[in-house]
Amino acid sequence: MKKEDRKRFWRTVRFKRYALSAPHAIVLGATIIVLLMIGLCATVLYQSRQDALDRARETSRNLGLIAERDIERNFELYDLSPQAVMQGLQRPDVMASPALRRGVLFDHAMTAQFLGSMLVMDAEGHVVLDSANDVPRHGNFADRRYFTIHRDHPDVGLYTSDPYEFRLRAGTPSIALSRRLSHPDGSFAGIVLIAINLYFHELFAGLRLGPHGSMSLIGKDGIMIMRQPYDVHMIGRDISRAATFQRFRSAPEGTFSETASIDGVRRLYYFKNLPHVPLVLMVAEAEQDIYAAWRVRALTIGSLTAALGVGFVVLSVLLGAQLRRRMRAESELQMLAKTDGLTGLNNRRTLGEILEREWRRARRTRTTLSLLFVDIDRFKAYNDTYGHQAGDDALAAVARCISGNIRRPADTAARYGGEEFVVVLPDTPPAGAVQIAETIRTAISELATDHAGSEYGRVTVSIGTASCVPEQQGDVSTVIRAADEALYSAKAAGRNKVAAS
Ligand code: GH3
Ligand code: MG
Ligand code: MG
Repeated sequence: MKKEDRKRFWRTVRFKRYALSAPHAIVLGATIIVLLMIGLCATVLYQSRQDALDRARETSRNLGLIAERDIERNFELYDLSPQAVMQGLQRPDVMASPALRRGVLFDHAMTAQFLGSMLVMDAEGHVVLDSANDVPRHGNFADRRYFTIHRDHPDVGLYTSDPYEFRLRAGTPSIALSRRLSHPDGSFAGIVLIAINLYFHELFAGLRLGPHGSMSLIGKDGIMIMRQPYDVHMIGRDISRAATFQRFRSAPEGTFSETASIDGVRRLYYFKNLPHVPLVLMVAEAEQDIYAAWRVRALTIGSLTAALGVGFVVLSVLLGAQLRRRMRAESELQMLAKTDGLTGLNNRRTLGEILEREWRRARRTRTTLSLLFVDIDRFKAYNDTYGHQAGDDALAAVARCISGNIRRPADTAARYGGEEFVVVLPDTPPAGAVQIAETIRTAISELATDHAGSEYGRVTVSIGTASCVPEQQGDVSTVIRAADEALYSAKAAGRNKVAAS
């Protein structure tokens, strides 16, 4: 293939590929970009959702830690009172006067926050000293665990009981801190006990956990001690059989998400079994609260991204359609530029290109290039007789007849000008050219279009043929001239004839 041919070939291929795919490529490209954008947006939103959860987990843990420290510090303070009682009991001067005794022994118990009554019991479990009264209240607590544990195990130190409703203080959940009293010889002398009112109201009241969150302090036996938001009916309730509580007891500390059976709200639970106090601390934040801010952001960003994406795709579809329309118009224009408006055949300019191309091809392949020069006979007379409109119709009919009688793909017909046509027949020997010319001539004659001014009474054509194997020198005009001369002979021979050069 010659350099010019190759260039033209690739130009054609490129144009065709472009014409086929450009509008689709725009829409496809835009869709891919939008999908990537949506993917990116979804990833970022998912990440920020995870961040919100992590933050909530962190917040719960911190709240838990603050509460835990506060509770444990308070318990340390509470322990000071039983210790003071133990020391006071050693002092005979204090023990001698009942009035002084109560003032000295229970001084701390009166001042410390949340403290309930403080009792000293003898080895049989009878109350012998009572912070509330000079005359101790009646009661025997020998069956209680806080009593038996000190009696049976001298090394327990400070014992913290499970929360219970202290039998002498109706209704208030309490916890008992107790220490053993020993005789100088080490034998069991009784216990000193302080009841602590478990109203952690102040501690809990200041904590905010969102509209659906809650924070609870639960006894290890499952009794609800304090809850925020405060609900009087929940305090003292036994939740030991609830699934969530079972999970609280399964590990020292942890977080998990679960839907509460009571209200159907899914919450993130953080729990901790306090190490030195028999209490379980639980912080629960509702997922709807955790994700509230995120949801607003996700909705805004998500809908904006979606709108942007849809807009982008719509725009690309419009652009693609516009491009397709333009390309179609361009190719139509190109077609129009190549063809003759009246006959639909190639025009003179295109004929020039075809001749050039076929001339070079024939020269390269050393094949015979043949031409037919077709001219309608007495056409001026036809126009004069039937008018220009009829002349145009006859011209078009002749053109159709010519193109209908050339079969090979490489064969092309063109309007040379006026009522003259050229048929290019690559790789066709002179005899073949004459044969095709004859076929055309006969076919046109057989159209039997009336032509009063013609010697044959119908529209006929004269055809001159010329053939050559192109040489290095010379150009295509020589063949055209030869065909034209042959045409002249055909005319001279009486018209409606084929003449070869
Ligand atoms: P012959 O070729 O047989 O010698 O006679 P002729 O009358 O065909 O020869 P000539 O070349 O003198 O006349 C050509 C006429 O063709 C002139 C014009 O009236 C007519 N003609 C050329 N182009 C067109 C066209 O586009 N439309 C119509 N209707 N007529 C055309
Ligand atoms: Mg003519
Ligand atoms: Mg003519």
